[in-house]
Amino acid sequence: MSADATASAEGTGPLVYRFGGGTADGRGDMKDLLGGKGAGLAEMTSLGLPVPPGLTITTAVCRHYFQSGQSWPAGLEDELTQALRFVEAETGKVLGDPDNPLLVSVRSGAAVSMPGMMDTVLHLGLNDTTVEGLARRSGNPRFAWDSYRRFVAMFGDVVLGIHYTRFARVMDKLRGEREEQDLSVDELKALVAALKQVIVDAFGTFPEDPEEQLRLAINAVFRSFNTPRARYYRKSNGLADDMGTAVNVQAMVFGNMGEGSATGVCFTRDPKSGARRFFGEWLPNAQGEDVVAGTHTPLPLVADQDGADPGLQPLSAAMPTVFGELDRIQRTLESHFKDMQDIEFTIEDGRLWLLQTRTGKRTPAAAVQIAVDMVNEGLISKETALARIEPTTLEMVLRPVLDPDAPRKVIAKGLNASPGAASGRVVFHSDQAQDLTERGERVILVRNETSPEDIQGMTVSTGILTSRGGQTSHAAVVARGMGKPCVVGCTDIVVDYARGLFYAGDTVVRRLDWITIDGATGEVMEGEVPTLAPPTDSGAMAELLRWADEVAELKVRANADNGPDAERARALGATGIGLCRTEHMFFQPDALRAMRQMLVATDQRSRQRALAQVLPVQRAAFEEILTAMDGLPVTIRLLDPPLHEFLPERAEDIAAVADDLGVRTEVLAERLRQLHEANPMLGHRGVRVGVTAPEIYRTQVRAIFEAACDCLRKGIEPVIEVMVPLIATAAELKVVRASIDEVAEQVLGEQHQDLDYTVGTMIELPRAALMAKQIAREADFFSFGTNDLTQMTFGFSRDDIGSFLPQYLQQGILPDSPLTRFDSEGVGQLVKIGTDRGRHANARLKVGVCGEHGGDPHGVGFFHRVGLDYVSCSPFRVPVARLAAAHASLGLC
Ligand code: PEP
Ligand code: MG
Repeated sequence: MSADATASAEGTGPLVYRFGGGTADGRGDMKDLLGGKGAGLAEMTSLGLPVPPGLTITTAVCRHYFQSGQSWPAGLEDELTQALRFVEAETGKVLGDPDNPLLVSVRSGAAVSMPGMMDTVLHLGLNDTTVEGLARRSGNPRFAWDSYRRFVAMFGDVVLGIHYTRFARVMDKLRGEREEQDLSVDELKALVAALKQVIVDAFGTFPEDPEEQLRLAINAVFRSFNTPRARYYRKSNGLADDMGTAVNVQAMVFGNMGEGSATGVCFTRDPKSGARRFFGEWLPNAQGEDVVAGTHTPLPLVADQDGADPGLQPLSAAMPTVFGELDRIQRTLESHFKDMQDIEFTIEDGRLWLLQTRTGKRTPAAAVQIAVDMVNEGLISKETALARIEPTTLEMVLRPVLDPDAPRKVIAKGLNASPGAASGRVVFHSDQAQDLTERGERVILVRNETSPEDIQGMTVSTGILTSRGGQTSHAAVVARGMGKPCVVGCTDIVVDYARGLFYAGDTVVRRLDWITIDGATGEVMEGEVPTLAPPTDSGAMAELLRWADEVAELKVRANADNGPDAERARALGATGIGLCRTEHMFFQPDALRAMRQMLVATDQRSRQRALAQVLPVQRAAFEEILTAMDGLPVTIRLLDPPLHEFLPERAEDIAAVADDLGVRTEVLAERLRQLHEANPMLGHRGVRVGVTAPEIYRTQVRAIFEAACDCLRKGIEPVIEVMVPLIATAAELKVVRASIDEVAEQVLGEQHQDLDYTVGTMIELPRAALMAKQIAREADFFSFGTNDLTQMTFGFSRDDIGSFLPQYLQQGILPDSPLTRFDSEGVGQLVKIGTDRGRHANARLKVGVCGEHGGDPHGVGFFHRVGLDYVSCSPFRVPVARLAAAHASLGLC
């Protein structure tokens, strides 16, 4: 908070700031004290722009109002009266004057915009006497009485708290089928009387005194800061609850005074694409609330406006002189504030007035385009451009998003695992997904959770929805890798596979019904909600990221386990692969079959036979990846997951697999019983498999180096880093490393090739971090697997966190899921200890992170401060991590 705000809160600074006639007490940089709207009005006035005169009561007064049990601070009455006299002098009108009444608007305006959350009162100052004066002065009784009926209803609703529907009923009764503008003056008078009667019935009297109206309205605006809806908005947007709102009291100007009047909103650039073109909407003979209510179709500002009906008359044609002035002003405002502005204006009888300017909201793609264009136009520095873009928004730049204007019915909400919007027909099984997509349908795969068996269904689906699982569940990780919209852990839905439907509250969604999921918000919607096409040109993003790389110290790699993902990662700027999960290669039917044969084999020979079938599949996959990453490092992790993940679970699957493998069902069932583990995540997985079944790792290492030799022969430069998962002791790594080196040398010798390679380990168990000194003596590199490290440090299963996490978040026990937002306080200590101890023992140790947190800007900031060499994340998150790395270097995260 600025020094000004503190001073006022303590009662030393002014409580009311005036603006009008080319001068202002406040400035544009006083948002904390004057709110965004008040600061903007002050700045525009000082710039000599046409702003109706007014005054701003500071946010400090609002804070005092709540702290003191709803009273005004000493001095406010006097300052308000003086400022009002100033407004009266500027306008030549007087509040409550029967002949020449001043009417004012009373609007909220906090430091951070909270669109639509707080209250506004317009036309304040009208009563039975002043309305006649307004009618005489304007020569337009219809306008005067129309303003009065608007005021009475608004005042009753906003200030006196009488439900709006009571006024609406009265209006509907009098109006019948007609529009308001069809009512005669006498009818409007009758309407006003009836609306006032609603207030008298509920409240006893209607306050005719404009000064009392003003006091009541100011208090109502203060109170609107603390409505449940405003508090909810602040909570969901991470805004402080004690900032308070300023109140702006401003002379009214009227867009509803006749054909020469109008109202409108404009943006200095296109908020959807970011293109540098003036963009906006206007309505002749109307007020701002008519635009908001959506009862009239607004007209475009300029001809050929994107998305506008070409038959509608643009402002540029209807009022060319005023348009010219508005165009000049929008340029002035943008170059003054050095950011895209969202401007509200009113035209009163051919005269232009500005009511608001603020930084305009925009899509992620537009944000990037605007930031880059402004650097190239010399308006802002590269650092400012980088700082203006939230890293996470980059994830959305290249994906379709839901059309924000399209109606939708949200039926459930889960975790936003992979952003982007997708619509399709509901299917519950992988083979259904394949059948339907082969027939040209789009499908959403809905499962309780997914497993390797679902991979093909996932590949063809446009989106994935699971009722269970967290941000690092199989569905979430795989979907992100594929760049597919995905919602996981959606406990609002109950899936019934047998009946082919799911329940979402009272809604029943059946197989083949259409749904839409939004992977950015976690929402599940009925039917097909239209999307906006993603921008095809990422030129601006590429440029922004080049600037990011110039300042970033952390390198960014990608987690990828096939050629296309590796290529995409490279195109998005990855400087290598930080994690190639080799188990994903077993998802292909041939490899899965061979793997299953290997797992159920009871003797060495049949295990070798099965592994011989795995080898070519792995070799081909490695060759693809090494080719895509030619010259860049590729960290290949040996098999990690619990073996049971490869085996069937349901009776009918067991029978089918037994048949496929040529063994009796009972034999397979017995083998499955032997392999069963109570806690597979803590069980026979990772390096433990490497120790007990060394032939698996040896086969994988052979595949890696055979692929490398093939690459060398083709002139491709493989840079190989072999990584061992789930190490807890240095001895484990020592044993496995000896075997890796032996096979590597063997293959290179057989093929007469020379190749440097490194061997390292994941650090994903707390013990490994603590014993980093000993482990680093056996390792060339460390890669922190923060998914497991978080799971193992908290002691909860990352796949089951959905059962209690929502309550933890609700009760504020955890601020966020630690699987999504890195727990730098707790797990971070292990990363720091592991890095420091490891580097102490081995100065050349390279250290990175390959858990999902590699793409979490908060995590990236922490990893930068610890001094890691790189982070590695899903390909789609590479741009996010590159920008976050730059933010970290600039001290922004
Ligand atoms: C990790 O644990 O952070 C990791 C990258 O490995 P996985 O998610 O495959 O367990
Ligand atoms: Mg792991």
